[in-house]
Amino acid sequence: SPSLEALPSKPIVQNPFRKVHNVVIQRPEEVQLNRAKLPVTSEEQTIMEAINENPIVVVCGETGSGKTTQIPQFLYEAGYASGDGIIGVTEPRRVAAISMSQRIGLEMDRPREVSYQIRYEGNVNKDTKIKLMTDGVLTRELASDFLLTKYSVIVIDEAHERSVYTDVLIGLLSRIVPLREKRGLPLKLIIMSATLRVEDFVANQNLFPTPPPVIKIDSRQYPVTIHFNKRTPNESEYLEEAYKKACKIHRELPDGGILIFVTGQQEVQALCSRLRETFPFRPNQTVVEGDTSGRDESRANRRKRFKLDDYAIQAIDEEEGEAASDAEFDVEEDKADQVSSRQPMFVLPLFSLLPSAKQALVFQPPPAGCRLCVVATNVAETSLTIPDVKYVVDTGKTKTKLYDRNTGLSTFRIMWNSKAASNQRAGRAGRTSAGHCYRLFSSAVFNDEFAQFTPPEITRRPIEDLVLQMKAMNIEKVVNFPFPSPPSRESLIVAEAELLALGAVQPVKGKTLASGSRITPLGRTMSNFPVAPRFAKMLALSGQHDLMPYMISLVAALTVQEPFLEGKPEDDNQELPEDAKQRQAYFSQLKKRWIGQGFSKMLGDLMVLLKAIGAAEFAGLTPEYCAEHCLRFKAMKEIRQLRQQLTNSVLLAVPNLELSLDPNLSPPTELQSKLLIQVVLSCMGGKIARRIPASVIAAANVEDKSKLRHAYQTLSLEQLVYIHPSSVLFQDEPEFILYQELFEGNKIYCRNVLELKGAWIPKFAPQHCIFSAPLEEPEARFDGGNGNVICHRTSTCGPHGWPLPSVEV
Ligand code: ADP
Ligand code: MG
Repeated sequence: SPSLEALPSKPIVQNPFRKVHNVVIQRPEEVQLNRAKLPVTSEEQTIMEAINENPIVVVCGETGSGKTTQIPQFLYEAGYASGDGIIGVTEPRRVAAISMSQRIGLEMDRPREVSYQIRYEGNVNKDTKIKLMTDGVLTRELASDFLLTKYSVIVIDEAHERSVYTDVLIGLLSRIVPLREKRGLPLKLIIMSATLRVEDFVANQNLFPTPPPVIKIDSRQYPVTIHFNKRTPNESEYLEEAYKKACKIHRELPDGGILIFVTGQQEVQALCSRLRETFPFRPNQTVVEGDTSGRDESRANRRKRFKLDDYAIQAIDEEEGEAASDAEFDVEEDKADQVSSRQPMFVLPLFSLLPSAKQALVFQPPPAGCRLCVVATNVAETSLTIPDVKYVVDTGKTKTKLYDRNTGLSTFRIMWNSKAASNQRAGRAGRTSAGHCYRLFSSAVFNDEFAQFTPPEITRRPIEDLVLQMKAMNIEKVVNFPFPSPPSRESLIVAEAELLALGAVQPVKGKTLASGSRITPLGRTMSNFPVAPRFAKMLALSGQHDLMPYMISLVAALTVQEPFLEGKPEDDNQELPEDAKQRQAYFSQLKKRWIGQGFSKMLGDLMVLLKAIGAAEFAGLTPEYCAEHCLRFKAMKEIRQLRQQLTNSVLLAVPNLELSLDPNLSPPTELQSKLLIQVVLSCMGGKIARRIPASVIAAANVEDKSKLRHAYQTLSLEQLVYIHPSSVLFQDEPEFILYQELFEGNKIYCRNVLELKGAWIPKFAPQHCIFSAPLEEPEARFDGGNGNVICHRTSTCGPHGWPLPSVEV
């Protein structure tokens, strides 16, 4: 077919990485039409000129303006992928990497040339020209090829999200770009951001001595009227409030999609099923409104173009409560539209763990005559743009993972969003026509309790994995690194100390740790595994007694979110007890079927994971098998992929290890179970807990002794902790346990628990013990328990001084 688009003539700058001719893409006609409407399309010339003439360019534009889908295509057409280098695009979210690669491949009508790579999977091939990947994937590539010689351009997308790896990539690329220039192989860096807050990158002398040019995409944005609630509902009410608001909009207001922001997958699913019950959708339902053709056109005529600067959010306080809120609707414009409560509603969920085929549904128009209603987590805030949303319902809440650096305790807290993020959510309503945003909180709460911006992730979470990657790139002094927003000194020090405790780094000879540390051979091996450092060490220590396939499976299972279907099942054909307590008991019973005797029983929840993986693989990993045994099919598939990928990385890192790629997994022997526990202990020694002994409870001078029963003391926390009821060791209550993580519910619970013998602690976690005689040959502890036994008389453990049994020679 003939080319549908005349190519603009573009200035060509010599670049060995870039072929001097433009590439012609013949796009499907429908794609052509959609592209023409996107704000970036009219800026192509400006954007490409800036890129051709500058090594680093920042592009800013509202979400939905076409940055992610179009700019890689501009680069492709300008020849940036026709020389030796390809175009690399990073995304902070896995969802975006996959769905955007599919979209770009489809728009270009060259699906094989546009690939993605995320931690678990990818479809990169020899024809790949544009590669979308998560920012973590590119960071890892840097460890083996610091100059990124495969690439002619790197596009850092969604830089405003300020994910840890995006920040670090920008820091690293600020140094790589000049190095590539020196080598005569210039690399282009394009930083793309949704909001206008780019000062952290642009006005940061430490990062870019010459500020890069910023191109603002002048985007079409219609005014959005903001309606604040008069009253702010409390924790238990806001979901109900969102439901009521959606019903009201649907019953009383003109056509247009509804987008509801809630906090997590469970809430998305709960709200979706309630809305579906209230407004059942039958596929062959007749449309009640009659003919809707012609309406789009008249509406299009009424469209005004709003410059970005004109885009002002008009805020209205709902003085008279609900009734007033409707009076505020600007119904005038849509008077012609029929409003009918009989119109069916087409309800779709959107969250990051949703299978990608289901995610893609939100981009398609709803069935004729239906109103689209998407219930989403903040995935829909910036990374994915849902077409034709007119009403946004914003609960104002977001789920944030909080870490306590001292204790390692992590909790999910539902918190207020930031002002910037709320305005971003509101903006979703004004993409195709004037819209409305219903904020389910008062303007006073917004003004007083919402932070201006969400702080960058790097300042909020532990960064051990990142520091290990940086060490593998031979960066000795991480405190001097040009971070766009540096993490606190404290968290850098904590990370370095943890790596030191794991044996991954050692102080630079003759210097103290404060002046930097250097990676050890163990650390280098660890850095090859795309998992958190302590998991990486588990792999590094498992090259004996055929432990590797088990350790790979455990690490995969512990890394993937929730293999067990303990919440509400994905597909509704599964009958589960409604009551939370009953449900936990049910799961505990179910898991017990998988637990063995002896050392394998001591492996506890980890044994359950191993058996579940083995059994599901043996049964051919079908959705039916998973449903029957309450396993999340998607998680099990991810575990399989991660096992495969880890197996490959282990084979690369330890070439002479005999390791098969057989997905089947027979249960570990008693010896292997024991060794697995010991290896895990040597990597997670800090997560030991000891049950409060009966004698202590009897002697305790407290009124309420019930708190002391079943309670455990950890090495790090003041408070007592408890084994979670879903654990198979819940009733056994062994004296010493090792846990994967602590989380806070109505009590503090330990998750993924295994049992320890007290005598193993001084052997495999000596850093946490106090010895009466000096420790000899500390390295001997890493031999899996078969070599030299460390000789000492007595020991105690942790700040509480738990007595531990003597260890014999
Ligand atoms: P930005 O990156 O500036 O936020 P995008 O390039 O993601 O913008 O989106 C541009 C347009 O492409 C949006 O209107 C969006 O709805 C549309 N789009 C993106 N992905 C898909 C898809 N998979 N199917 C249909 N339309 C899509
Ligand atoms: Mg984008």
